[in-house]
Amino acid sequence: MTELAALLRARMESQGPLTVAQYMAEALGHPQWGYYMQRDPLGRDGDFITAPEISQVFGELLGLWCLEYWRRMGSPDPFLLVEAGPGRGTLMADALRAVSSLDPAFPAAARVHLVETSPALRGLQEKALGDYQVTWVESLEGIGDEAPMLLLANEFLDALPLRQFQRAEDGWRERLVGLDSEKGGETDGFCFLLAEEAAPLPDALNSFEMKQAPTGAIIETCPEALAFVGELSARLGRDGGAALMVDYGHTRSAVGDTLQAVRGHRPCSVLEAPGAADITAHVDFAAVAAVARDSGAHVHGPRTQGAFLRDLGIEARSARLAEAVPEEQRRLLESGCQRLISQDEMGALFKVVALTGASQPAPAGF
Ligand code: SAH
Repeated sequence: MTELAALLRARMESQGPLTVAQYMAEALGHPQWGYYMQRDPLGRDGDFITAPEISQVFGELLGLWCLEYWRRMGSPDPFLLVEAGPGRGTLMADALRAVSSLDPAFPAAARVHLVETSPALRGLQEKALGDYQVTWVESLEGIGDEAPMLLLANEFLDALPLRQFQRAEDGWRERLVGLDSEKGGETDGFCFLLAEEAAPLPDALNSFEMKQAPTGAIIETCPEALAFVGELSARLGRDGGAALMVDYGHTRSAVGDTLQAVRGHRPCSVLEAPGAADITAHVDFAAVAAVARDSGAHVHGPRTQGAFLRDLGIEARSARLAEAVPEEQRRLLESGCQRLISQDEMGALFKVVALTGASQPAPAGF
C-alpha cells in the first residue's frame, strides 16, 4: 500500500468518503505524496509519453505558431509567453530554439512564465530552459503583468480534478471514493460509492444535453479546467493574445466515465496505488468552448491533432530534419511524426483548440 493510500484510508475512516475530484486532487497533488510532486512521470522509464517527448518537431511547430501569431498582432514588446503544465520543459525549449534562430526579437520580447505546481518538474524545467529567464507561477492569477499573452498547454487540462455524477432513481448523485471492508488487494480497499442524497448538478452540467440519461449513467465536469479556461479567456479578451490547448478528449459533451489510470505504461485501476499512478480524464472540448465564449474569447476548432499538425507542415519539417541526421535518428523522426498524426495513434483522439481575444486575427492551422 502506498503512503498516500494509508493516509487517505485513515482520513476516510474518521471523516467519511471523498468526492472523486478530492481523491484525484490528493492522488496527483498531495504536497508530499502526490503523483506529480516527487517524480518525473514522463518518458520510457516513466508511466507515459507525451507529444513533445515523442518528437522535437511538435514543440518547434507550436513555437512557429506562436511566432506567426505574435507577428500578426504587430510584434508586441513585451508579451507573455506562457506554458501551463510544462512537464520536463521540452516543448518550451524546442519552441524557443526553433523561433530564436528565425527571429531573435521574439525571445527578447517574451516574458516566459510556466504554470507548474510540482517542485520536481520545476527542477527539470529549469535545466531544460537554462538559457532563458523564466518565472514560475502556481496559477494564471500569479501572472501580475498585463500584456498580450501567447499560451501553450499540452496534456494539462486532463490532469485537473474531475467531478462525476451518476444518475440514481431519485436524481443525480455525486460519485465518491470510500472504503469497502470486503475489498483489498489491488484497490487497497477503496471503492466507488454514491453520495447519500441527490443534489442539483453544477451549472456547467445544467445545459448538458445528456441530462436525460438513463439510470446508472455517469456524467463529468472539471471545475478547475473550466475556471482556468475562464480566467485565460478573460485575459485574452482584455489584453489580447492567443492560446493553444492540446489534449485527448471529445468535441461534444457525452455520457460516460472517462477516468483512467496508468502506471509503467500500463492501464491500472483508478483506485490502485494512489500517488504512484497517473490519473487523467478526457477533456470535454464542448464545455471548454462554452466557457471560453462566455468569458470573452473567440474559439477556433477543435480540430484533430493530425489535421492541425499536417497543416502546420509536420511531414515536410520532419523529412527535412531527417535528411541531415544518422539512420537511427532518421527513423525516430519518421516514426515520431507518424505517431503524432496517424488516425490509429494520437492523430484522431487528440484535439487542438485555439482561443483568441475577440477582436484578434485568426491563428494559423484553423
Ligand atoms: N505538457 C507536458 C506535461 C504533461 S503532464 C508534456 O506534454 O509533456 C501534466 C503537467 O501538468 C505536469 O507538468 C504537472 O506537474 C502539471 N500540473 C498538474 N496539475 C497542475 C496544476 N493544478 N497546476 C499546474 N500544473 C499542474
